Order: sequence, then structure tokens, then C-alpha cells
Amino acid sequence: MRVLLAGGAGYIGTHTAIALLEAGHEPVLLDDLSNTSDVVTDRIAEITGTRVPLITGDAADDEVVESAFDAHGPFDAIIHFAALKAVGESVAKPLEYYANNLDTTYALLRVGLARGIRSFVFSSTGTVYSDPADLPFTEEATRNLVELSNPYSKSKLMNEVALTDIQAVNPEVNVTLLRYFNPVGAHASGLVGEDPKGIPNNLMPFVARVAVGALPEIGIFGDDYDTPDGTGLRDYIHVVDLAEGHVAALEKAQPGLASYNLGTGNPVSVRGLIESFERAVGHELPKSVKPRRAGDLAATYCSPEKAERELGWKATRTIDDMTASVWNWQQKNPSGYAG
Ligand code: NAD
Ligand code: UDP
Repeated sequence: MRVLLAGGAGYIGTHTAIALLEAGHEPVLLDDLSNTSDVVTDRIAEITGTRVPLITGDAADDEVVESAFDAHGPFDAIIHFAALKAVGESVAKPLEYYANNLDTTYALLRVGLARGIRSFVFSSTGTVYSDPADLPFTEEATRNLVELSNPYSKSKLMNEVALTDIQAVNPEVNVTLLRYFNPVGAHASGLVGEDPKGIPNNLMPFVARVAVGALPEIGIFGDDYDTPDGTGLRDYIHVVDLAEGHVAALEKAQPGLASYNLGTGNPVSVRGLIESFERAVGHELPKSVKPRRAGDLAATYCSPEKAERELGWKATRTIDDMTASVWNWQQKNPSGYAG
């Protein structure tokens, strides 16, 4: 399959491009490089022996998307990763988040549907679920726009609603909504990984920066939650498992609308993740308990059973695999792609 990956030079897109190449498909990247580097195409070539084309431009611009089809089409499918994704920033910049995260979808669909794509895979998020009574979240769990705490998550749910209506009048097309839980980890080569700009907001890259000595200590945001060790529970998923989930979704795509949770279903606490990282590094890391972070849920984790049943996909990598791969990437690239 020939597949256009919008936002494909980012963290998850890069790993998905590698998984697609390994499965015999032909990915093409379209990215404005606002949150990544074109170095990733060198790294993908080093890993796979294939240089994937990269079109640099805005996926919200119909002309840019047209130019990708002209130069490298026709495409069988589009995977839409392109988005702004920082939850805290989305509260301060809602206009930018709604505009970018929705306009990209509209441009990709306007052009993609006119050019005959058969499948559209969308990067959604487990944060579309918000009611703790629904844990572990199945695909049918409550999704209520007004209960979501930030514009980023709302923009993802708004995309899901728009995509559902658009698929309904294009019944020959497959639309797959992939709800990722907490993607972490790096490719086994240590050549590609997560490279957040500035001080990381997310736990795993923050711990990695402390481990490499770039930050002084880990803050544990609350240890008085109603969880086994009092710290927050999350469903961390290795990015390589996640990437393989995209390949399965594309290969199994049928006309119609489908949604899948991509997670492990095994919740890990903040302390559990830090202990796993300490095993990878071989010594304790400096840490202290801080107040809870506003807007955090005590626990989010999914039931990944539908993806296993319908896509034949299941995450296989453990939390120790995830932390070891991040440590490998962080040591080899202490300054990310810039180093
Ligand atoms: P990322 O920032 O590494 O990748 C997104 C890519 O999109 C970046 O390379 C960025 O340069 C590009 N981009 C943004 N706006 C663009 C535009 N208008 N035109 C072209 N390119 C544009 O993020 P990621 O972690 O790889 O996330 C990929 C997708 O998965 C996003 O849609 C994100 O919302 C979603 N998601 C991520 C997580 C996570 O924790 N990483 C969790 C759930 C969902
Ligand atoms: N967390 C933490 N310290 C940090 C960053 C995050 O204790 O520096 C906690 C956070 O409160 C949550 C978990 O780690 O319980 C995962 O947070 P992250 O931001 O990685 O993911 P999200 O909350 O978006 O699921």
C-alpha cells in the first residue's frame, strides 16, 4: 500500500513509517517540521535501507496536500498524525489548537477523497474518555465533549465527530479512529525516539532527562490518589507496538467506520514507571513528591480487546522494554536530533 503520513516526521509517525516499510508498504511523509527535524529521514534510511520521501509543508493547505499527491500519489490511504499536542499549551492557545487540529483533517479529506483514497486513519487519544466509572475504557465508554478538560482533547473528539459524519456520506471509504493511550519508548536501534522541545511535560521524557543529568529531579505529581501506591495510573504503550497497530489497522481496513483503543490494558503507576527506569539505569534517580497537577485523572487505562479481536494486534512489549529503549535512545542522543 502507498500511504501518505501527515505529521509523519514526528515521534509516532517516524516509528510507523519504519513499521510500514518493514511490512512491505510505501510510506511518504508530509510534515511542516514544526515539532521535528528532517534528520528523521536519514535515521529511517539507516534503519531500513529505504529513503522515504518528505514533503515539507502545511497539511492544512489544500495546495500542499495536492502537491504531495501529484509528486508521490496515488495513495491508497492517509494516516493523519499532524497535530499540536501539548495539553497545557492548548488551554492557553485554543484557537491555534482547534484551527490546526481540525483544518488539517479537512484539507487531507478534501484532497484525499477527490483523489480516491480508500482508507483514512486518524490519531485520536484515550483522553476522549473521562468518566472513571467506565474503567477500563472500552470503545463504547462515555465520550462527552463538555466534560473534557482541555482544548487538545476536545479537538480530537471534534475530529472524531466530523470524521463519523463524513464517512457516513462516503460509505465506500474506511475511517479508522485509533485512540492511543500513553505512547512511550523508542526504536531498538536508538536512532529514532521522542524528542520534545524544552522541558518535557510528560513523565517518561522527563525521567529520561533526569537520568541523563539534564534535569535535577523528578517531581511526582501527587501520591494521595485512590490507587495502589497513591500515584497516578496510566496505560503506557511502547511506540513500536503502537506503530504495528497502524499497520494492522491499514491491512484490516474495511469500508465503514471503526474505532480502536491502542494500549496494553496494564496500568502502571508513576512510582512503577520510575522504578522500571531505575532498573534500566542501574541506580536510583532523584525524586520528590509534589502537589497534584491540575486536570489529571487518578487513572486511565483501556481494554485493548477489540483491537486484538478485529485487527489481530496486541501490544507485546513490557514497561521494562519501554524504559530500557528510552534510556538507550537518550544516551545515544542526549540532545535529541539536534545532537
Ligand atoms: P509529534 O509532534 O511528534 O508529531 C506530530 C507531527 O505533526 C510533528 O512532526 C509536527 O511537525 C507535525 N505537524 C503539526 N501540525 C502540522 C501541520 N499543520 N502540517 C504538517 N505537519 C504538522 O507528535 P506525536 O507524539 O508523534 O503524535 C502524533 C499524533 O498522535 C498527534 O495527532 C497526537 O495528537 C496524537 N497522540 C499523541 C499522543 C502522545 O502522547 N504522543 C497520545 C495520543 C495521541
Ligand atoms: N507525572 C508526574 N511528574 C511529571 C509528569 C507527569 O508525576 O513530571 C504524572 C502525571 O501526574 C500522570 C502520569 O505521570 O499521573 C503521566 O503523565 P503524562 O503527562 O506523561 O501523561 P498524561 O497525564 O497526559 O496521561
